[in-house]
Amino acid sequence: MTGTTPDFDAVVIGAGFSGIYMLKSLRDKLGLKVKVYEAGDTVGGTWYWNRYPGARCDSDAYIYGFTFDKQLLQEWEWSERYPEQPEILRYLEHVAKRHELKRDMQFNTKVIGGEFDEQNNLWTVHTDKGDNVTARFLIAAVGTLSYTNVPKFKGFEKYKGKWYHTSQFPHTGVDFTGKRVGVVGTGATAVQAIPEIAQQAKHLVVFQRTANYCVPARNGKVDPEVTKARKADYDNIVKRIRESFFGQEHYFIPKSALEVSADEREREFEKKWDAGGFAYWLANYQDMFFDQKANDLCADFIKRKIRSTVKDPRVAEKLIPKGYAYGTKRQPLDTNYYETFNKDNVVLVDAKTDGPIEEITENGIRAGGKEYPLDIIVFATGFDAMTGPLKALNLRGRGGRTLDKEWGDGPHTYLGVSVAGFPNFFTITGPQSPSVLSNMPVSIEQHVEWITDLIDNMIRSGKTTIEATPQAQDQWVKHVNEVVNATLMVTANSWYMSANIPGKPKAFLPYLGPEGVGGYRKKCDEVAAKGYEGFNLA
Ligand code: NAP
Repeated sequence: MTGTTPDFDAVVIGAGFSGIYMLKSLRDKLGLKVKVYEAGDTVGGTWYWNRYPGARCDSDAYIYGFTFDKQLLQEWEWSERYPEQPEILRYLEHVAKRHELKRDMQFNTKVIGGEFDEQNNLWTVHTDKGDNVTARFLIAAVGTLSYTNVPKFKGFEKYKGKWYHTSQFPHTGVDFTGKRVGVVGTGATAVQAIPEIAQQAKHLVVFQRTANYCVPARNGKVDPEVTKARKADYDNIVKRIRESFFGQEHYFIPKSALEVSADEREREFEKKWDAGGFAYWLANYQDMFFDQKANDLCADFIKRKIRSTVKDPRVAEKLIPKGYAYGTKRQPLDTNYYETFNKDNVVLVDAKTDGPIEEITENGIRAGGKEYPLDIIVFATGFDAMTGPLKALNLRGRGGRTLDKEWGDGPHTYLGVSVAGFPNFFTITGPQSPSVLSNMPVSIEQHVEWITDLIDNMIRSGKTTIEATPQAQDQWVKHVNEVVNATLMVTANSWYMSANIPGKPKAFLPYLGPEGVGGYRKKCDEVAAKGYEGFNLA
């Protein structure tokens, strides 16, 4: 311990799902003095910023929430299987109010830097509002998909129309009625937005760089009897999702796709397709992510579905994914996505067959030598995922080291929660943890509870600093890569592989198994049980 008293025991950056629970946990469980800084004007994080038409949860709502508040699990009623963004934001507002969290949160305030003071073992944190505060612990609850990617298209500055990125959509909404609209991108966000925009716009042009494998969400009201049964069984559900592979109630079929008959396979595929949601992706044959031939069978079924849904065979062909294995890019869930391309007011411009985007012009977008006049352009072009928001914090660890430099060839973390040379700094659902490959609230709760126990342990044992050893970190990075290199995930140009941002070093960002979320939880608990093995405690 040092003689210097910090302004706070902990500073938490971000007031989304992670920041909300981190504050609740450190303040109300450990009695610490905590400050949360949040760039938005209220809580919500992802669900505050992503207000594009059609934005909704892709996990079943009954497992998409906090499980620490058992009473709320019983009280809260979701209106449908996958609630829309405003409803999730209302939920998070409700949690913040119910636990009186806002009094320790400062909104409209962005953290722009921070450095570790090695003499006093404190973090100093700087904000764009002029705060310069000290804290023993610094926790990044900045989200994984929060650093917006707006590609630097040639001629962008010339465009005279309006443009928006889906992750920074105006809070007043956008009226597309009677407008010529362009959507750039066909990832999970665009797949939600395109059918909604197509209903309003006079003319919609979709610019596709890579076709995606989409499966139906099958949203709708949930049978009240099902909800009642789930509420009665929440303790078991929570246990199951915590021990599961993806933090979901989805389990692989314990067979190879190649060992069953074509009839049996087709029946299974139809069953998963009918169930909707992540069933086809996360509960398919167990070799789907490992064996190209097994994967081809799963992919072929979706290709047939696309061909049977899209009426114009030329358009269908453009929408058929090519050149990468099914499931190696994030599974978009769709509601009338493929059907939307049957509408007269919708045009698909495919980079491979029609030509890529060449430039933004004064009036629209030029692709494949043709100009498409547009009143509004919506960029659904994603994020500098996982490492982007952490690097943007401009933190300086021991000896002034930066994440930018330390992660020059991709992320280096220990367990995805700590970085060597950055003492007392933690990342919730950080790179090289299951994070985006899981149902996020499950992984968020696990990290928050693990970090809380760690801090509690430090306080009780009179320790001042904790940091990952470089050796433990190197071993973890090696393990993360070894596991994923045995799968097909590394073969795709996905944002998981950092391939979406020009110049970003190629590296797999999350942690995939081998036993998923459940196995990772066990590993973290073992590390704690062994006195925080792999960390230096001083
Ligand atoms: P994304 O998956 O990265 O998709 C971005 C799209 O923009 C891709 O089609 C990409 O093409 C295209 N693109 C990027 N740069 C481009 C360029 N320079 N020129 C032309 N096209 C370009 O981003 P996202 O759709 O926003 O989704 C990101 C993640 O957010 C998802 O994977 C998911 O994890 C999460 N998400 C969650 C939910 C939910 O749960 N409710 C909903 C939406 C999104 P390429 O494929 O060729 O790179």
